[in-house]
Amino acid sequence: MAEETIFSKIIRKEIPADILYQDDLVTAFRDINPRAPSHILIIPNKLIPTVNDVEADDERMLGRLFTVARQLAEQEGVSENGYRLIMNCNPHGGQEVYHIHMHLLGGRPLGPMLVG
Ligand code: AMP
Repeated sequence: MAEETIFSKIIRKEIPADILYQDDLVTAFRDINPRAPSHILIIPNKLIPTVNDVEADDERMLGRLFTVARQLAEQEGVSENGYRLIMNCNPHGGQEVYHIHMHLLGGRPLGPMLVG
């Protein structure tokens, strides 16, 4: 069994978070340390530690991450100017929380994809 992270507590509403969307498959909330005017994390409710752990059975749920990203981008008013979706995997990918999450970043020009 994978070890739960703080994100499981957010999904169960055991700790506070600015939740923007939740359904049976996914939860979306504002990143606590925003790197852009809109910085939202969209996560599956099921604990999957990294993209390396994704299975074919997860495809429907993972597709939902994208439809919710589209809806939230519209809601945030960043659809037209554009935004970036990122999933980090393991140390070289810069992953800090081992419960997969899609970052939605927008609201300013984000510059080149890789910096630092
Ligand atoms: P990553 O480096 O891809 O694993 O990103 C983890 C993200 O989770 C970071 O951007 C953190 O700022 C964010 N984060 C960590 N704890 C919380 C929390 N309690 N509520 C909201 N965002 C969080």
